[in-house]
Amino acid sequence: MEYSHVVETYQELESNQSTDKKSSVLAELFRESGPADLEVLGHLSMGRAFPAWKDLDMGIGSKLMVKAIARATGNTEEAVEDEWRETGDLGDVAADFVEGKKQATLQEKELDLASVQENLEKIAAMEGEGSEDKKIGRIAELVTFSSPEEAKYLVRTVLEDLRVGVGEGLVRDAIVKAFFAEMVDGNGFTRKLEDEDLRVAISENLENEVTDYGLWDSFEEENEVEFLDTEEIDLDDLWREEGYDLVVLEDNREWAEKLKESVQHAYDVSTDLGRVARTAEEKGIAGLEEMEMDIFRPVKVMLARKTESMEDGFDTVGDEDGLAALEYKYDGFRVQIHKKGEEVKVFSRRLEDVTEQFPDIVRTVKENVEAEECIIEGETVAYNPEDGSLVPFQKLSKRIKRKYDIQEMVERIPVTVYLFDAIQVEGEVLLDDPQKERWGRLKDIIGESEGLSLAHHLETSDMEEAQKFYQEALNQGQEGIMLKNMGARYKPGSRVGYMVKLKPVMETLDLVIVEADWGEGRRSDWLGSYKLACMEEDTGELKTVGKMATGFTDEQLQEMTDRLEPLIVKEEGRQVDLKPEVVVEAAYEEIQRSPKYESGYALRFPRLVRVRENMDPEDANELEKVEKLYESQQG
Ligand code: AMP
Repeated sequence: MEYSHVVETYQELESNQSTDKKSSVLAELFRESGPADLEVLGHLSMGRAFPAWKDLDMGIGSKLMVKAIARATGNTEEAVEDEWRETGDLGDVAADFVEGKKQATLQEKELDLASVQENLEKIAAMEGEGSEDKKIGRIAELVTFSSPEEAKYLVRTVLEDLRVGVGEGLVRDAIVKAFFAEMVDGNGFTRKLEDEDLRVAISENLENEVTDYGLWDSFEEENEVEFLDTEEIDLDDLWREEGYDLVVLEDNREWAEKLKESVQHAYDVSTDLGRVARTAEEKGIAGLEEMEMDIFRPVKVMLARKTESMEDGFDTVGDEDGLAALEYKYDGFRVQIHKKGEEVKVFSRRLEDVTEQFPDIVRTVKENVEAEECIIEGETVAYNPEDGSLVPFQKLSKRIKRKYDIQEMVERIPVTVYLFDAIQVEGEVLLDDPQKERWGRLKDIIGESEGLSLAHHLETSDMEEAQKFYQEALNQGQEGIMLKNMGARYKPGSRVGYMVKLKPVMETLDLVIVEADWGEGRRSDWLGSYKLACMEEDTGELKTVGKMATGFTDEQLQEMTDRLEPLIVKEEGRQVDLKPEVVVEAAYEEIQRSPKYESGYALRFPRLVRVRENMDPEDANELEKVEKLYESQQG
């Protein structure tokens, strides 16, 4: 398929707000695609360069993209940046600049979808010395061959920010629309009466009803209509074998539900909408239902909702006798461990392969998990080897990123995995089994050892016992507890209320003050609003996350001004840039996503808890912590 055709669809998607219309547009594109293109479109259509399970990362940020656009279009980086500031979208900038250049040189070459995908894979695979330059070169080359509109979406795709308003749910709907006949009941049929050129099957039982409609005669004339015995209608066949477009039934709910469920199931086990689309097209519902989980291909993890109190928690997840499973909520990072024979792989919550960083987990799993094959989940927590005290997530995150001297890290920051779930054991998929059963299966295969343990677990309906358990967790420095519905299935990628988390109030963040403003009026001698930044671990750069502006007493303002004034490096009007030295502990209402600050996040109503006298900017919280807190409040 030509890439230009996909781009036309992107444009249509971008200009349509209605989700129903969007899914129809996408369904049309899916129907026109061959099997291989379908696999690619499954993820590309929602702006991902790769399916979620594939541990590939484009490694291209805005900065590199500016370079690539400059190189491809013969402009300076400053010119690209200027335009970017104005439009706020590097895709638009690329389109504009390519347009300008085209008139001069005309290098356009036909791009096809498969080669775009191949190039994305090559770019993602470039690693090591000189790879940045190679990546820029490859993107620049692609842009050179593109039309302005192609360049726009290519750039957005590489940045994994397509901006056409398509998410997973919409792609699922599009798959249903593309590969199965549309089903309506008698009421829904009235909306179809003006349609043409459809192959239509109508349940015999509805014959009198539909032929009574005013537009019936013309409908019958413009379409190919047949009446069928409801008992014999097999929807899968009607579409796939016989090519009906529309099926009119007395009640379509059961089929609609079944379809949705089988697409969802297929996605849950494969985390690959492209594969789901291809299976739907080639094998229909039966094919989707037969899709199974592959070992070493991570499944999206089930997420938790928040609960405000123990009572609420029990209300949400307790069974009819009020019974629920409680576990410590460990503050570490989630791992999904896949084991088959002697091979073990460890995936993060974002489905990245972190096996290399955790040879200790691999070893302990091999030694202590008594299953030939399994997929289990737990939280990895770090301990101080000297006194056994808990190490904050901050430090542990260093291990997640470390690519060298791994053995040294294993010794310096040893970890324990607290296991809490099993989603496949000996090839048997447990997603549909109740939590109690999965926990039982997990217990059966875990031999506890130093680096591996079952999560602290209590099954109770007794509020007092539960409160005691919660206190214990907090006293031991854990984040809080999880309450789990013992009868619930495992729902990948979903924040369903099958488990809830109970924690004390919002955690604070330690952040660096990087800018401030001189106050106004009475306060003009004081530096009064402070821009806060967190640390980006990979680059060591400080990234702004918000501004602390209100609620200070005069004394506080004076004290802050005394601290900050000597650190001024640049003044522009009222605003001053500061040498990053002062770290403060900040509380806030909430973390939001926001393009306003460099981190991509904004703290809502940040307020000062205290100045962190003994902290250097390097000790400030990392961007990753901000992301983690953001994610954790999505419950
Ligand atoms: P949150 O990230 O705040 O939404 O909370 C859910 C996360 O808590 C999970 O993704 C796990 O990483 C973590 N967690 C810690 N202990 C447990 C536990 N016992 N059961 C489930 N999740 C846990």
